[in-house]
Amino acid sequence: MSAQSELNAIFEKLAKDYGKLNAKQQEFAIKEVGRVRGDIADLLADYSTKDGTIKRQRLSRLLRELDEVETLMRNYGTTALDSIIYESATFASSGINAGMVSTVGVGAVASAQLERLNKDVFEYVIKRYGDDGLVLSDRIWRLSGDMRDELSKVLRADIIRGESVSAMIANVRKVHDNETWKIRRLVVTEGNTAYRTATSYNAKRSDIVKGLLIHRGKANVANHQCTILSKEDRYGLGAGVFKPNDTEIYSPHPNCTSFLTYVLDGEVLR
Ligand SMILES: [Zn+2]
Repeated sequence: MSAQSELNAIFEKLAKDYGKLNAKQQEFAIKEVGRVRGDIADLLADYSTKDGTIKRQRLSRLLRELDEVETLMRNYGTTALDSIIYESATFASSGINAGMVSTVGVGAVASAQLERLNKDVFEYVIKRYGDDGLVLSDRIWRLSGDMRDELSKVLRADIIRGESVSAMIANVRKVHDNETWKIRRLVVTEGNTAYRTATSYNAKRSDIVKGLLIHRGKANVANHQCTILSKEDRYGLGAGVFKPNDTEIYSPHPNCTSFLTYVLDGEVLR
């Protein structure tokens, strides 16, 4: 087997393993943001009377306390996403460099420079503007704001109906469960972007990588940007081959699971 095909096999396995890591990262983020349920339970306990309900007269005041709850959700979400992005970059960089050492005898970058590279990837991902014109922190604000709005609706209705605090806690859980798909989407988008950006940054700093080949994501949808890019022959190097500075391959679209493999210098493609 040529070094190129060995490297392809290693990169494909690495991308698959990253998919498993990303699934764990989604559960982690859901659990972290869900910590807010404990804070809400404490808050409801503070407001409840002896019979386990909350008086209507205290409704407005309780809803104002959701400001604090929203801030906590944002903090939990930001801390979780930051660690997920850094972990994804580190996972990609170390796997790529180990794979290159074992196939072509030299890593993309010296191991002493890996930490710097992963930090650069992190900075890129958190400052990146998506097609929606938002950066990561805006998306976390929007997510926390949406959850707060839902919580506020549910608690208002429950208090007016005279529901018990334990029924309210169950309803708070439902709100969280209904919003988890948004957390998943965020983790898939940002984690995979960190993974692809790290792949590109390593290529950029290597002397033997000529291009990056994009493999469309699992969704396999014809009009997804990753599929379109995988068919484009921009440089006459073959379909789907791009240069490390082509930032459109870092994040083709939200929720994208596409990945990149290296085209080594001197290799003829397909
Ligand atoms: Zn895609």
